[in-house]
Amino acid sequence: MKWLAVIALLGLAGTENPEPRTQNLEPRTFRVGVLKPGGGYAVTDMPTETYVARVLAGEAVRDSQPAALEALAITIRTFALANRGRHRADGFDLCDQTHCQVVRTATAATDRAARVTAGRLLLRDGTPASVYYSASCGGRTQLPSDVWPGAEDPSYLPSKDDDACKRAPAWTAEIADTDLLRALRSSGFRGELRNLTIASRNASGRTATLKLDGLRPDHISGQDLRVSVGRTLGWQHIKSTAFELRKKDGSYRFSGHGSGHGVGMCVIGSAQLAEQGTSAEGILARYFPGLEISGSARAAPPPPAGGRTGVRPYSDPSLTPARPRSDPDVMVSLPDDDEGERGAILKQTSKARDELARTLGVPAPRVTLRFHPTTDDYERVTGQAWFTSGAVVNNELHLLPLTVLRDRGMLERTIRHELVHVMADAALGKRPAWVREGAAIYFAGEQMIPGEPQQRPAFKPESRASCPDDNELLHPVSVGALSNAYSRARTCFAKQIQAGRAWRDVR
Ligand SMILES: [Zn+2]
Ligand SMILES: [Zn+2]
Repeated sequence: MKWLAVIALLGLAGTENPEPRTQNLEPRTFRVGVLKPGGGYAVTDMPTETYVARVLAGEAVRDSQPAALEALAITIRTFALANRGRHRADGFDLCDQTHCQVVRTATAATDRAARVTAGRLLLRDGTPASVYYSASCGGRTQLPSDVWPGAEDPSYLPSKDDDACKRAPAWTAEIADTDLLRALRSSGFRGELRNLTIASRNASGRTATLKLDGLRPDHISGQDLRVSVGRTLGWQHIKSTAFELRKKDGSYRFSGHGSGHGVGMCVIGSAQLAEQGTSAEGILARYFPGLEISGSARAAPPPPAGGRTGVRPYSDPSLTPARPRSDPDVMVSLPDDDEGERGAILKQTSKARDELARTLGVPAPRVTLRFHPTTDDYERVTGQAWFTSGAVVNNELHLLPLTVLRDRGMLERTIRHELVHVMADAALGKRPAWVREGAAIYFAGEQMIPGEPQQRPAFKPESRASCPDDNELLHPVSVGALSNAYSRARTCFAKQIQAGRAWRDVR
C-alpha cells in the first residue's frame, strides 16, 4: 500500500477515496540540515518530492530539457535514499550543501520533473543503488576507487569515454605558491614547498599523484590536492583532477577540463543528450548501465477508482528493518569529497571495534567518528595539536582529515588507538595517563611511533627511563616529545601485561 503515499505527494489522491491511514502511509520526508549563516544547521522536514524538486534546482544545468531533469530527479531521489544515514551523527538525514546535495528554491520545471518521476529509483538487488553524479566527467567517467581509495567499483559505475559533455568546461587556475602552501599545511603537510609536479596519471589520464618537493609527506593524490585546495581556497580553482600543471614565477598554473569527481552521471553530458532527444531512461542506462529503473516508463496515467497509478511502489529502505546495512552502532561524519570512502571506513571501524571489544572483554560500544576537514579545524575543536592525530571528545572520536591520516599510513592505527580509549579509559580513569595511553598503543597493535614513518624505536631501550608523567602525554610540546612519551608509555604498560597482569589492573 506504499503507493498511496506517492499519490498523496502527487496531489492525486481523491478525497472520495479515503483510506484509513496507517503508519506506513505517512508521507515520507527527509530531515534536511540547512546550514545557518553563522554555522550550525537548522533541521527542516521536507517531503521527498519537495526535496527532489529543490535539489534539482540546485544541481541541474539551467534550462535543461525535461528528460535531463527527469533522469537527474531519479538519481537525486536514489542518492537521498541510499545516503539517508549520512548525517545521523548530526541528528538529521542530509545537509543542503555540496557535501550531500545542494538545495535551492524549486522552479515549475523542477517541480514537474519530481512529480512525473515520483517514487522512481535506480535499484540494485531491489534496494536503492549507491549512485553518484558530478557536473561534468570531462570526457571520461571515473571508477570510484580511482577517486576514493578503498571504494567498491560496482559494474554500474564504469570508467568509459563520454562524448556528450565534450570535455566541458575547460578551466584554468593560477594559484600563488603561498596560497598553495597554506592549503597543504591546513591538510597537515609540513615543511616548505620547493616544487609541485605530477608524478602519475590513472588509466583515464587524470592526475593520480603529485610530488611535493620539500614537504612531508612528499606526495599527495590528485583528488586530495583538489580537496585540500577546495576546502582552504575555494572549490572554483581546481575543478577536477583532469589537469596539466606548470610552475610559473611565484605561482602554479593548472589547466584542465571537467568539473567534479567524474563518477557516475555526467550532468552536463546528460543535458546535451536530452537536447539530442535521448529519453530519461536512455540517459540513466548510459551512465548507470545494468541498474534497474523502478516504475513505468511514461508519466503516470490518471488514477483509476482504486487510486492505483502506473508508478510501481517502492519500498523505502528506512521503513524496511531487515536489510543488509552498515553497522547501526558506528556513525561516521565525513566532510565534502571524502564521502566516497564512507563504506570502507565503516567496514574497517566495525571490524576493529569488534576485535578490540573481544580482546578487552568489554561490550562493543556505539561509536561516532568525526573526520575534520582541515587540521586547523581539528585543533580548534579538540584543543589538541595536529600531531596527535586523534582525540576523544564527549565520547566521540575526532580525527585529522582522512587525507592526512591516509597519506601518512596512520588511518587504521589511529582509529584503533582511539577505539581503545573509548572502551578502556573509563576503567582506567584514576590511573596516571601513561596507563591509558599505554593501553591504547599496546592494544591498537602500534609498533610504530606516531609521526615516524619507519619502524624503529625513537631512542634506545636502555636509555629509557621512567614512565612518562601526565603532562608529557596530555600537553606534548612537539612530535618528537610525544613520540618519546608514547614509546615509554607502551613499554611501561607492556611490561606489566607480559608479567601476567590483567589490563584493568595495570597501575
Ligand atoms: Zn552533508
Ligand atoms: Zn561527461
